[in-house]
Amino acid sequence: MSDAAPRREAVIDLDAFRHNVRTLSALALPAETMLAVKADAYGHGMVPLARAALESGATSLAVLDIPAALVLRDAGITAPIFAWMHDPDALFGAAADADIDLGISAVWQLDAIAAAGAARAPRVHLKIDTGLSRNGATEEDWPGLVSAALEYDRRGVVRLHAAWSHLADASPEDDAVALDRLRRAVAVAEDLGAHFELLHLAASSAGIRMPEARLGLVRFGIAAYGISPFDDASGRDLGLRPVMTLRAPVVSTKRVPAGHGISYGLVYRTSAESTLALVPLGYADGIPRIATGRGQVWINGRRYPIAGRIAMDQFVVDVGDDEVAPGDEVVVFGEGDRGEPTAEDWAGYAETIGDEIVARVGARVERVYLGAREAADAADAGAAGESAAETDGGTPATESAP
Ligand SMILES: *Cc1c(COP(=O)(O)O)cnc(C)c1O
Repeated sequence: MSDAAPRREAVIDLDAFRHNVRTLSALALPAETMLAVKADAYGHGMVPLARAALESGATSLAVLDIPAALVLRDAGITAPIFAWMHDPDALFGAAADADIDLGISAVWQLDAIAAAGAARAPRVHLKIDTGLSRNGATEEDWPGLVSAALEYDRRGVVRLHAAWSHLADASPEDDAVALDRLRRAVAVAEDLGAHFELLHLAASSAGIRMPEARLGLVRFGIAAYGISPFDDASGRDLGLRPVMTLRAPVVSTKRVPAGHGISYGLVYRTSAESTLALVPLGYADGIPRIATGRGQVWINGRRYPIAGRIAMDQFVVDVGDDEVAPGDEVVVFGEGDRGEPTAEDWAGYAETIGDEIVARVGARVERVYLGAREAADAADAGAAGESAAETDGGTPATESAP
């Protein structure tokens, strides 16, 4: 990235994330915590967040697909990694060789694992559709899936490990029905001779509010990023800390007269002589255009409304007679403790959920990590243990690994 590009930054507070993972994993006990780092850790950056999760109470990781799981393995992560969305060209052999846990929804996926002929048998988690109607076997297809998995397990092609599902988060009653469907599916499978070492169902919502759904493991996602899965409670109410702060500098200011139109369509006009500040973030960076007329940002200790349409690369803020200069920090959303909007506030401005606000932050926004303590400690330990080899270009690093 060019040094001359405006500093569009998503500051990721790993200490806040660790706090959240510790809070959630303690809540879930004795159930284990699997941390969902799919979609590049909800826009926060997959590898650093995966490491921080494993440092603070998570014992396994969830990603969507096999390629993402392989990136984590390549980064040196040895914890269990679970991937559940596969198309017919999925890299089942590579997944098996890398010891990736596979969510399995259909017999053809087991056949494809067998056809891949990997040296290792991957652990499989059989998925029953308990009402969400995405993947997962239907009640009718479930016995066939279980029988096929048992046969492949006997042949040493897979290791049958878990049964699982995912909730619709529609209502407590719907979720209770789904839990009951999972239990019935497990009973059907056991009658066919299956034994599951693990059952899992809950994500953030049920993991927090439905203790009976925690089973052996909770797959926490959004709550770990400090965003509430509920409409009636904020992340802060739940004792969680927002992890991402989205910010950029003011790139220019100008003084304009009353009645001056701003941005495409001139849908906003100044009510008096005023100062305009230009901010280099737009919908290509994830700022939802639909928040035009509602979105607020924080500059020099104050909140201001965005003036006029949010464009692809920029938006304008009307700061009235306040002193704002190029280089001043504009916070679009952050932890909220200084008075800045949160991602949850932006979800309100844009009629969506906080998950979408953070996950849509674009590739042009640089991720900057605060509190990368463990990595720094490891580097320090490495430096201390290998001070004699310090001039050696770092080659002994791999030798010191156990
Ligand atoms: C995204 C996802 C999760 C995490 O969900 P949150 O609501 O973000 O906690 C868990 N399990 C599956 C299958 C998912 O797709």
